Amino acid sequence: MKSFPMVILGGGVGTGYAAKEFVSQGGGKGQLAIVTAEHIPSYERPPLSKEFLAGEKKRDDILISDSQFYQKQGITLFRDFRVQKVDFRRRLLHGPSRQTIGFEKLLVATGSSVRKLTVPGADQPWIYYLRQLLDSQHIHQHIKRGKQAVVIGSGFIGMEVASVLTRQGMPTTMVFPGDRVWEHVFTPEVSAFFEKQFSGHGIRLMRAQKVVGFAREQGTGQVLLSTGRQIPADLVVAGIGVTPTLDLFRRSPLEHDENGIKVNEYLETSVDSVWAAGDIANYPDRIFRRRMRIEHWDNAVEQGRVAMRNMMDKFQPFIHVPYFFSDEFDLSYEYWGDAKGHDQVVYRGEMKKKQLSVWWLKKGTLCAALLMNRPNEERQYAPRWILRRAKLDPNALRTAKSVRSLDRTFGQD
Ligand SMILES: Cc1cc2nc3c(=O)[nH]c(=O)nc-3n(C[C@H](O)[C@H](O)[C@H](O)COP(=O)(O)OP(=O)(O)OC[C@H]3O[C@@H](n4cnc5c(N)ncnc54)[C@H](O)[C@@H]3O)c2cc1C
Repeated sequence: MKSFPMVILGGGVGTGYAAKEFVSQGGGKGQLAIVTAEHIPSYERPPLSKEFLAGEKKRDDILISDSQFYQKQGITLFRDFRVQKVDFRRRLLHGPSRQTIGFEKLLVATGSSVRKLTVPGADQPWIYYLRQLLDSQHIHQHIKRGKQAVVIGSGFIGMEVASVLTRQGMPTTMVFPGDRVWEHVFTPEVSAFFEKQFSGHGIRLMRAQKVVGFAREQGTGQVLLSTGRQIPADLVVAGIGVTPTLDLFRRSPLEHDENGIKVNEYLETSVDSVWAAGDIANYPDRIFRRRMRIEHWDNAVEQGRVAMRNMMDKFQPFIHVPYFFSDEFDLSYEYWGDAKGHDQVVYRGEMKKKQLSVWWLKKGTLCAALLMNRPNEERQYAPRWILRRAKLDPNALRTAKSVRSLDRTFGQD
């Protein structure tokens, strides 16, 4: 059995940045091991539904650190090692073929797993999900100009995949249960904007639809809908959400529920010397003053870094404005904060020119902002004001030529 002072369980985004942080904080050789079920060391996941899926980036372009990094830094990498049990009392990870790895300190970064459809026919090989590099490679191999694609779901993964498949020459239909695209995040106006853009690129949008099965007729796949309609499909990609990868911890002493592993503001779990970071971590957010679990890249990066610093005895709380980005066709947008509970929305810019910012307020306090092609100052002030819990005058925000001029109203840093 090999044993290490520090072990990271999981080989995803949070892990990749935690390992970098370990090195920049002066971590010594032989002190850290990474245990991952994947064959490839940590890579960026966002390109899997963007440039990598489109074939514009290759495997080596998306690695968080190149393959020599781990060897050079004396970090032991256990690949293709799916942990089957964690013994927190004896501080052991049990893997395949009775292998065990010992740890003194552990960072849990097992991320999320895709939700799968359970309807009849859902196990057929032309129905794909997208989480790992291999999934993206498989979908890419099945992209065929002129063949029909169906994307199930209208969140950011569904929208990004639909835009790539369309750009690659596949007539694409998006099927989703809501009345408009990404209704959990977008306002009706923003959904309408994206729907117009997507329709303009030839994507067929099928709203308020429930998939009840898949069939194959005369060599062509069919997506079956509850209305009795059938959509022909050579390729189906389902992006219907994810759940935290918790299976290992269900009967463990780690405090958790269906919404992840509970950590404190230092990302420590309820078990001594065990931390959690990224999609799996349910943390007390100091800005919004409630528990949160975020399934986005930036959160995994920052929590990976903070957890590693704390494993190295720095005691830094995690205080961070949630952030994500997405790219579809020529549209790139960024989103900060959390609009939950908002009671007012302010728009700036011109949708027609694809220049838009959306500001969500709750009792006059800025809680979230979405920006697309807006001046850089809006990028600077949006997260700053959310962090400060700035009170904003909606009219002034709507009409101000420059948001910089409003900053004085909300006090300086
Ligand atoms: C296709 C795609 C596109 C995305 N695009 C964006 C985007 O544009 N913007 C954005 O903000 N976010 C995006 N995200 C989300 C972002 O990538 C995730 O939030 C981030 O990867 C979470 O990092 P993590 O380290 O928590 O988990 P992950 O990166 O999911 O890594 C988890 C790791 O744990 C390993 N693991 C799990 N169980 C075990 C086990 N038992 N034994 C060993 N290893 C195990 C897994 O194999 C994996 O390597 C995207 C995600 C996907 C899938």
